[in-house]
Amino acid sequence: MTRRVRTRIAPSPTGFLHLGTARTALFSWAFARHHGGDFVLRIEDTDEARSTQDAVDQIVAAMKWLRLDWDDGPFFQMQRLDRYREVIAKMLIEGTAYRCYCSPEELDAMREAQRARGDKPRYDGRWRDRDPSEAPPGMKSAIRLKAPITGETVIEDHVQGRVVFQNENLDDFVLLRSDGTPTYMLAVVVDDHDMGITHVIRGDDHLANAPRQKQIYDAMGWTVPQMAHIPLIHGPDGAKLSKRHGALGVEAYRAMGYLPVTMRNYLARLGWSHGDQEIFSTEELIAAFDLAQVGRSPARLDLARLDNLNGHYIRKCSDSELLVEIERILPHIAGGQELAAKLAPELRQRLLAAMPGLKERAKTLIELIEGARYLWSERPLQLDEKAAGVLTAEARVLLRELTDDLGAVDAWTAGATEQAVRAFAERKDTKLANVAQPLRAALTGRTTSPPIFDVLAVLGRNESLARLRDQVQGR
Ligand code: GLU
Repeated sequence: MTRRVRTRIAPSPTGFLHLGTARTALFSWAFARHHGGDFVLRIEDTDEARSTQDAVDQIVAAMKWLRLDWDDGPFFQMQRLDRYREVIAKMLIEGTAYRCYCSPEELDAMREAQRARGDKPRYDGRWRDRDPSEAPPGMKSAIRLKAPITGETVIEDHVQGRVVFQNENLDDFVLLRSDGTPTYMLAVVVDDHDMGITHVIRGDDHLANAPRQKQIYDAMGWTVPQMAHIPLIHGPDGAKLSKRHGALGVEAYRAMGYLPVTMRNYLARLGWSHGDQEIFSTEELIAAFDLAQVGRSPARLDLARLDNLNGHYIRKCSDSELLVEIERILPHIAGGQELAAKLAPELRQRLLAAMPGLKERAKTLIELIEGARYLWSERPLQLDEKAAGVLTAEARVLLRELTDDLGAVDAWTAGATEQAVRAFAERKDTKLANVAQPLRAALTGRTTSPPIFDVLAVLGRNESLARLRDQVQGR
């Protein structure tokens, strides 16, 4: 019988959801969806000193933002301590694990001596065959795996292929610390087993852990899940991804105005390919995703590509969807609260009306919001430096006359105002731009904006004329 596919993402809650973890989550999620299986969320919080509730909240929020829905969990390892101890009890009885009574100082001295001899530091198995009755009085024990000493441990990896580890290079590592907490190595195996995980998909920084984990599965007589260790994401220069390459946390990309659909599409193509297809809908991704097309060399972060992809999705989104996305990020961006407070029905209407012009230019939601700022600027407008430069005394005289012409326009549409402005420029025997630029400066406070006749239409007659009068009266 083939088992129902179950994959998982198992972040440690010590900070934001890392871009690499998000990609692993996406791959695991897409793989589960492709096979009609389940995707599990597990929080690996056994490092109590570094785990925080805030990090858990951030991780969950980022997963939800990316629309990576899970079928089971979140499970918390700290709530499963009894289960790890139960497994350890069984291993002790079966003799696949043993008590080690070395003090930290003794372990340090052992490693020091090994280094001095030029050997790789490793546990030398000194309690492997010793009887616990020899333990120093009052000393608590750690529990170690009685690992095979000879032979090899082989991982058949979907991405890395067949990886062979010599057992003599692996030592009897700790499963349960002397304070009774499990190590990552033990908890991850017990959890993956208990949670029915069939495929472990994760970063290749965990490849070195795989043989140790396999040894625990073998000791327990459990089926080892299939494994896929994905090359890590690198920066554009080929070095391991770090802060200097750009933001590492998913939430930072949300705050920079990238759409969740962009991030999903972008992360999907970071290390996985399907022919030369770049754009994937959710359905296409689920249909196409497989592990065979995950590359063996590290993918490189390319922020210019991310921008272009985001521009693509912004143009593709409906105006109302964009409004929803804008509202969704307001709590996370500078000045967002202020705008949220102003987003009454009237401003929402204006924003929707302006959206077709705005979204043609914007690569991020932040650019979209910036481009729309003129909509909620309060009169009299603060002009930026360039706009102030455009509004010379001469330009203001021109604008005064133009304001009269515009005041006479009947039906206030982009077309009607365009006609009036063009006729005005002709009458003044000047280029349209010489009129349009002061007009833009007066209406938006800036020298760049969506097409100026759209601006007039979106602002409406009263607001447009009022903004023009503010400037011609030189306020
Ligand atoms: N908690 C580990 C991490 O955040 C993941 C462990 C795993 O996927 O096996 O890197």
